[in-house]
Amino acid sequence: MSSGMPDIPAPLTNLKTQYTKIFINNEWHASVSGKKFAVINPATEEVICHVEEGDKEDVDKAVKAARQAFQIGSPWRTMDASERGQLLYKLADLMERDRLLLATMEAMNGGKLFTNAYLMDLGACIKTLRYYAGWADKIQGRTIPADGNIFTYTRHEPIGVCGQIIPWNFPLVMLIWKIGTALSCGNTVVVKPAEQTPLTALHVASLIKEAGFPPGVVNIVPGYGPTAGAAISSHMDVDKVAFTGSTEVGKLIKEAAGKSNLKRVTLELGGKSPCIVFADADLDSAVECAHQGLFYHQGQCCSAATRLFVEESIYDEFVRRSVERAKKYVLGNPLTPGVNQGPQIDKEQHNKILDLIESGKKEGAKLECGGGPWGNKGYFIQPTVFSNVTDDMRIAKEEIFGPVQQIMKFKSLDDLIKRANNTHYGLAAGIFTKDLDKAITVSSALQAGSVWVNCYLMGAVQSPFGGFKMSGNGREMGEYGLHEYTEVKTVTVNISQKNS
Ligand code: ADP
Repeated sequence: MSSGMPDIPAPLTNLKTQYTKIFINNEWHASVSGKKFAVINPATEEVICHVEEGDKEDVDKAVKAARQAFQIGSPWRTMDASERGQLLYKLADLMERDRLLLATMEAMNGGKLFTNAYLMDLGACIKTLRYYAGWADKIQGRTIPADGNIFTYTRHEPIGVCGQIIPWNFPLVMLIWKIGTALSCGNTVVVKPAEQTPLTALHVASLIKEAGFPPGVVNIVPGYGPTAGAAISSHMDVDKVAFTGSTEVGKLIKEAAGKSNLKRVTLELGGKSPCIVFADADLDSAVECAHQGLFYHQGQCCSAATRLFVEESIYDEFVRRSVERAKKYVLGNPLTPGVNQGPQIDKEQHNKILDLIESGKKEGAKLECGGGPWGNKGYFIQPTVFSNVTDDMRIAKEEIFGPVQQIMKFKSLDDLIKRANNTHYGLAAGIFTKDLDKAITVSSALQAGSVWVNCYLMGAVQSPFGGFKMSGNGREMGEYGLHEYTEVKTVTVNISQKNS
């Protein structure tokens, strides 16, 4: 379809979970400990199924399989790069075939609106796989005019066994971002999905096998962070770890890498992203983008627009319109048509958000709407807007990861840049203005990995994503993403005489 937007079917009503085990060497394994853990539907608090709980011993098995698949002379290492690409194309086709099942599962397990899961998440996964499929045979080194009678060239080689630790807010998208890039470059992987949301990753494991990837190239070990996750980040035979999640855990991962084998580390962490609305902005569009930039997926995006700075002369009107917009939500089961806000992922996040809302009330922000939990079951929070927020309040400093909007006021540009950058984070930022000079000047002054001008949360598979400061290390996606999954080897050959 030319718009790229397929018609949306109804979600499956009789979804059965088929895959609940650990995936190693293209086979399904029970956990070594014999333990399983419950997977919950956050909209109903009901147990969907139990999944085998991977721990250190299971990670060891998976790493062995991944190492074996990476041996010199293995089917994976001797495969044409274009053939690696074909396998990724095949995986994309299989995800397209199972799009309805995967979107239903993602909505049920992750509390994600079904329409978003179907259109946005599955759409992004399929595009990402095809994008990196195309790269597989285009990852090239250089020949270098080095001094001396030598011939020098570089090879961009795969790093080796890559551990990949996935968060719960975009379980499929983060899985595919990570495996797509790693496999395109010829690495093998051991993936740990988040304990809250392992189901779609396990379904994708079955598709990996069906697509024809050699055994051991992709291994998926569901389990908890401090056990299975830590076993990956501290493993002596894992060459690289890629992590998306909280800054707090990001520090632990880097520390574990340093204390073990100095494995390469890429991190995509938290944010407290400023979104700046100048008085000359198109007000309707700025209100809507800032709103979506915060409330999308119940506020559970690392690049959410959680510090909204609005110029004084339009502040009151902006707040009025933002509150009107936030009051329009229909909360409920994300699989039900007409619902446009689902639950938070779990009890812990729910409580954390409510605690931050209480702090906002206590510290003197003005609660414009919402401000509490919703419903009798499920981890729902009312869409909440605070005005008169000041920079020193907890809600202006801490990552909330919920449907809670903070609207602050600004007067002067100098002061604004300082305030916007006054955070340890540096993931994203937004600017709304019709003045091109202002847009470019301010975007270069902001310390953020992504700056959106007159839009927000606009990602593309071709564009890199990642953070400044404590929002992370390295970039994912686009051509930049490939650099994080290759080692550069310089080969120098002694020759009798070189010629220009
Ligand atoms: P959140 O706080 O949003 O739940 P986390 O950073 O805790 O996010 O979790 C993101 C991912 O990191 C999950 O897969 C989780 O299991 C994993 N994780 C949590 N703690 C650790 C740890 N100590 N070592 C490695 N991985 C971890």
